[in-house]
Amino acid sequence: MNKIYVVGIGPGEYEQMTLRAIHALENCDTIVGYTVYVDLVKEHFAGKEFLTTPMRKEVDRCILAFEEAKKGKTVAMICSGDAGVYGMSGLMLELGENYPEVQVEVIPGVTAATGGAAVLGAPLIHDFCLISLSDLLTPWEKIEKRLLLASEADFAICLYNPSSKKRHDYLKKACDLMMQHKSQETVCGIVKNIGREGETYQILTLKELRDTEVDMFTTVFIGNSQTQRIGNAMVTPRGYRHD
Ligand code: SAH
Repeated sequence: MNKIYVVGIGPGEYEQMTLRAIHALENCDTIVGYTVYVDLVKEHFAGKEFLTTPMRKEVDRCILAFEEAKKGKTVAMICSGDAGVYGMSGLMLELGENYPEVQVEVIPGVTAATGGAAVLGAPLIHDFCLISLSDLLTPWEKIEKRLLLASEADFAICLYNPSSKKRHDYLKKACDLMMQHKSQETVCGIVKNIGREGETYQILTLKELRDTEVDMFTTVFIGNSQTQRIGNAMVTPRGYRHD
């Protein structure tokens, strides 16, 4: 059978992969992915064939996976976190229309939002919005509108892709927009290298976050109006009464 698993491998470390993801990688012949993710899993799946393509070559990577599956191989296309959160599962299903003989199965993973939330404590426990600051695939005007409206509605907000070489001031711009509706004292958190070597986190105010430089391996959390700092944890109350 021609089969492709689209696998979310979690934030990085083997322990944060689901058993279902591990089984899919054990059962496949070929693992396809962006170089960095292949390097993360390689040592645990010796004996597999590994095929990599560089970043920004997403369509090529998907076609490569389908062509291998067409040859009769069982293929795993890996993505960091969850493949359905700014990942490849959508594109794989779209391109899959051209390969009706190949069956695509999507396997979920721990996304950076929940992986990072656990490092910080419980920042996202109630309603929250996930917004990517990358304007590669989304017009910046739309990102601005989402930041403004999510802030106005008092959502906790989790930001992916908060920075890159070309977009080093986007987080600052995003904080300025959110401060139109959120207090500058709002409790925020940043987590870098979740589940990877060099994992670090910091809890700070929205005003401080505005003047903080982060990189593309960081996920940013902005609390709602109820979010507190409890010791070294960022906690959004769910609203249970403390009787
Ligand atoms: N599919 C991935 C997200 C890809 S978008 C997932 O579900 O997690 C890439 C962005 O995700 C990064 O810029 C960063 O903001 C966040 N991210 C992904 N993995 C991360 C990690 N291990 N540590 C910190 N942030 C991460």
